[in-house]
Amino acid sequence: MATMLDRLARPLQDLRISLTDRCNFRCTYCMPKEVFGPGYRFLGRHEVLTFEEIERVVRTFASLGATKVRLTGGEPLVRRGVEDLVARLSAVDGVADLTMTTNGSLLRQKAAALAAAGLRRITVSLDSLDDATFQAMNDAGCGVATVIDGIEAALEAGLAPVKVNAVVRRGVNEDGVVALAERFRGTGVTIRFIEYMDVGESNGWRLDEVVPAQEIVDRIGAVWPLEPVGRSTPGEVAARWRYSDGSGEIGVISSVTQPFCGACSRARISAEGKLYTCLFAADGHDLRAILRSGADDAELADRIRAIWLRRSDRYSELRSTATPGVRKVEMSHIGG
Ligand code: SAM
Ligand code: SF4
Ligand code: SF4
Repeated sequence: MATMLDRLARPLQDLRISLTDRCNFRCTYCMPKEVFGPGYRFLGRHEVLTFEEIERVVRTFASLGATKVRLTGGEPLVRRGVEDLVARLSAVDGVADLTMTTNGSLLRQKAAALAAAGLRRITVSLDSLDDATFQAMNDAGCGVATVIDGIEAALEAGLAPVKVNAVVRRGVNEDGVVALAERFRGTGVTIRFIEYMDVGESNGWRLDEVVPAQEIVDRIGAVWPLEPVGRSTPGEVAARWRYSDGSGEIGVISSVTQPFCGACSRARISAEGKLYTCLFAADGHDLRAILRSGADDAELADRIRAIWLRRSDRYSELRSTATPGVRKVEMSHIGG
């Protein structure tokens, strides 16, 4: 199959699908309670893509060259029957890598079923090992032990490798970075620290709350020397560092201080079936309307191909000069 390149010569390789806009957490940097409170109107049952529709979308993207699929949200594990969807998607030809990003709170209940359904590996978000800090960040009363237990359940179920994501916010959890590194050093679990991003319109993002990736590497490297490892694939977002003593790796995702738009090979689909060609896009392309219009697979593929060929997004590289006043999609809609 010929590789499909966008206007900046980037191939379509990865697909991220948000299974729901709902979540059992209210992380202050993603779904702050003041915005996502009782009055917030989440998508209704008929507004979200069905499993059949998601499978069709994944088959079509796979036919266009996407080999990696990540299920996300909102919280993907609050979508009922998620393991049935995993079973469907793991059988799609061309999908070499099927994974999920979760907050881990329901993983103890779900890990074995997900593994049995064909999920290979998983990423769990955990921002702090300090209970007070973590609870202040998730704002839903979930303790650290629940997520750690979820990570253990994933390991027991054979979902390997397990990765852990931590968003680092200046003055909030930055002082816990070394403890997080220490917890997973030598365990085979790779922790990746993510610069706090200005996604969406709800989190009141400020540049001075971003802890640069290099600072994180310096802090950890001062305790356990680190050396850089090359990115394993061109589209990989995390810069990898390994402990010089052989105790494994960490990753840093420097989307703010060192943007990587030049290698961005991702398409994102919201729970309601909109295709976004950038995490910071203001609006998406309505695939659900195409799916529900009776279009056949060839037509769906043509529409997606046309969107990708026109793509020229590079928000993070333009961030400093980006047009103010343009509303961006929320992270909980497209899943990071
Ligand atoms: N609920 C799942 C979870 O938290 O893992 C999946 C969806 S969540 C939107 C995906 C990832 O985006 C999480 O690792 C989360 O920490 C990260 N994230 C959310 N808001 C962010 C922000 N403003 N900056 C950087 N990362 C963010
Ligand atoms: Fe929910 Fe994940 Fe957003 Fe936290 S980061 S509010 S767990 S979707
Ligand atoms: Fe990709 Fe947009 Fe992020 Fe750049 S800003 S890396 S184009 S999602």
